[in-house]
Amino acid sequence: MSKPILILGAGPSGLAAAHALASVGQRAVLVEKEGRLGGAPILSGYAKLVPSGEWARDAIGGMVARVENNPLVAINKGCTVKEFRGEPGAFQATLSNGEMCQVGAAILCSGFTHFDSVNKPEWGFGTFPDVVTTAQVEQMISSGKGVRCPSDGRKPQRVAILLCVGSRDRQIGREWCSKICCTVSCNLAIEIREEIPDCHVYIYYMDIRTFGLYETRYYWRSQEEFKVKYIKARIAEVTSDGQRLIIKGEDTLVKRPITIPFDMVVHAIGMDPNVDNRSIASVFGVALEPHGHIGKGNAYGTFGETSRPGVFVAGAATGPETIDDSIGQARAAAMAAFAFVQQPAAPAAKVA
Ligand SMILES: Cc1cc2nc3c(=O)[nH]c(=O)nc-3n(C[C@H](O)[C@H](O)[C@H](O)COP(=O)(O)OP(=O)(O)OC[C@H]3O[C@@H](n4cnc5c(N)ncnc54)[C@H](O)[C@@H]3O)c2cc1C
Ligand code: SF4
Repeated sequence: MSKPILILGAGPSGLAAAHALASVGQRAVLVEKEGRLGGAPILSGYAKLVPSGEWARDAIGGMVARVENNPLVAINKGCTVKEFRGEPGAFQATLSNGEMCQVGAAILCSGFTHFDSVNKPEWGFGTFPDVVTTAQVEQMISSGKGVRCPSDGRKPQRVAILLCVGSRDRQIGREWCSKICCTVSCNLAIEIREEIPDCHVYIYYMDIRTFGLYETRYYWRSQEEFKVKYIKARIAEVTSDGQRLIIKGEDTLVKRPITIPFDMVVHAIGMDPNVDNRSIASVFGVALEPHGHIGKGNAYGTFGETSRPGVFVAGAATGPETIDDSIGQARAAAMAAFAFVQQPAAPAAKVA
């Protein structure tokens, strides 16, 4: 019987990889640093996911259940990997709970870190309580409390969603597009309008990137059916007149300055590299790409390879990814790792 495969991280990617391996009879050791499985959608309390429309707790909760009940998956929660030594096909991992595991390969599914909006202080987060993030609005909805101004609990009558907070911003060293935040924001705007029909919702954007089929379903539907208003703008600052939040900037279509009052301002936060990536790279001996995500090899060869033979990567660990794409990548990396540990004679050789 081949050695188990180590999976670091139990978000959508890690759960998908573990399930894919178990479904072909391969044992896996799943290591998750938090006390709960499910990754960002569960740990951060996302509401309804795009594009499925399913509640995160049901969709990702189902993925957790099928892994937790699988005898081929050994789960270590509240734990990480301290050392990873040996040769491809014969690695030894030392876990932070003191356990040692002999594994044939590893798949890094360690995901991302939410952008911390305090790094964009001119947009008011951390200064004004009614400036919140998309993750916080998701939590308001998923908790059942509804969208409320944190300062006094009132229902907002005017909400602004600012796109690209912590993405596509060279000034703060984040050049990448986080891919999903346009679509998530259109969806949140719809959800706010559904819950509070007399609330005016504005989305301030540089570009709208509701890619593929999301254009019709979220961008056009939010405008035509839910009357969400889109303003192409450069935002200079978010301040307060003592009563309401004030957005100042320039409408870049008509080239005029704007000063507009709101009850709540929502930052559509991006996906940063996982804050643990330097340590993960050092423990597993893999290279990072220039922005600090885990570097991946040639997508047309063996999918999910890193710079170290026998160590694979999938999902948001490699850069901003959607849940669907993370799951697809994780299944592909799982099959590459499975093929790798099945090679009896030359485990160090690459799988073609
Ligand atoms: C506000 C917001 C809303 C979003 N909504 C959607 C949506 O509706 N639909 C969609 O498709 N995508 C959405 N996304 C993107 C989605 O969050 C990601 O696609 C998804 O979480 C990626 O899954 P993952 O498993 O690769 O990473 P993660 O979900 O980040 O999971 C990684 C796991 O690894 C663990 N981990 C990290 N470091 C270590 C370590 N050193 N040791 C052990 N464990 C570790 C973490 O605790 C975590 O459990 C949203 C993103 C944001 C920011
Ligand atoms: S998906 Fe939209 S909001 Fe997110 S970084 Fe890209 S353009 Fe900005």
